[in-house]
Amino acid sequence: MFTKTGLTTHILLCTGIFATVLVAKAGDLAIKKDYPLEKLTAHVYVIHGPNEEVNKTNQGFRNNPVLVETRDGIVVIDPGSSLYTGEMIVNKARSLSKKPIIAVFDTHDHGDHWLGNHGIKKHYEKVTIYAHESARTSIASDEGKMWVKALNDQSGGQIAGTKVVVPNEVVKDGDRIRLGGITFRIYHPGKAHSVDDIMIEIEEEKVFVFGDVLRDKNLSLFMASYKGNLAALDIGEKSGASIFVPGHGKSGGKAVIDEYRQFINDLLGEVRKHFAAGLSDFEMTPKVVTALAKYKGWSGFEENIGKLINLAYLEVESDSF
Ligand SMILES: [Zn+2]
Repeated sequence: MFTKTGLTTHILLCTGIFATVLVAKAGDLAIKKDYPLEKLTAHVYVIHGPNEEVNKTNQGFRNNPVLVETRDGIVVIDPGSSLYTGEMIVNKARSLSKKPIIAVFDTHDHGDHWLGNHGIKKHYEKVTIYAHESARTSIASDEGKMWVKALNDQSGGQIAGTKVVVPNEVVKDGDRIRLGGITFRIYHPGKAHSVDDIMIEIEEEKVFVFGDVLRDKNLSLFMASYKGNLAALDIGEKSGASIFVPGHGKSGGKAVIDEYRQFINDLLGEVRKHFAAGLSDFEMTPKVVTALAKYKGWSGFEENIGKLINLAYLEVESDSF
């Protein structure tokens, strides 16, 4: 027989309400590690997130949020993967300035880059959140909710409580958005890392933020077009910027672009060679993996190289028609 308290607990457990109460103690999920804000130029800062796949220890945080100090307030590019990364950025912004966060740019629709919108919006209701129109459409669809679930599952529940906050302003290729005396030049390269990438040149600072079009020693899964990605790397390189910020890994000069371009060229070169010799996707995979052994230390190699070869095969095959 249940005591009154025991019965209540039983009912709570059976209905799932108890679990909801536990999840509601979300303060426990604040980002635990202190990730430094690194100064790139007079007004541009970056937090280099862990160059890893999503896991419980990194609490789902793995990208490179950028903070730009303008005359009117802080502008954020890619606020990370959760309510909690967004709030971490709010704290960093407050360490830089008494002014509010006035704008956010989401570089594409992958949840590790934009789910942090929630943490910014929670503290700055009036913030303008920019994205490419197709990224906004994707985030507003079931795809947005899928990202919450996927990242929560992969991080062992570390983003629980995070909600989809949809961008409220769209940008297109060629836009030059002036915020607090700083110019944010928008590039949309078409199909590259995804179908809805924007890349952002912070003109006065000579900084080019690539989103996931550029990765440093990182082989995350997604790739919409290798050829499109190579063309997009060229756009950044020719922009006149001298500091390049990748979506994952460390920022740097032209060498960061060269290294990633070399990986794509090596991968495509191997796949084209074996395709020309009549090998199937399945037959060529172990040979290509061996040929790309020098990239084994890159984050995500083990998990994703097979799929990346498969995507390259499909692109090479479709080019052959
Ligand atoms: Zn991505």
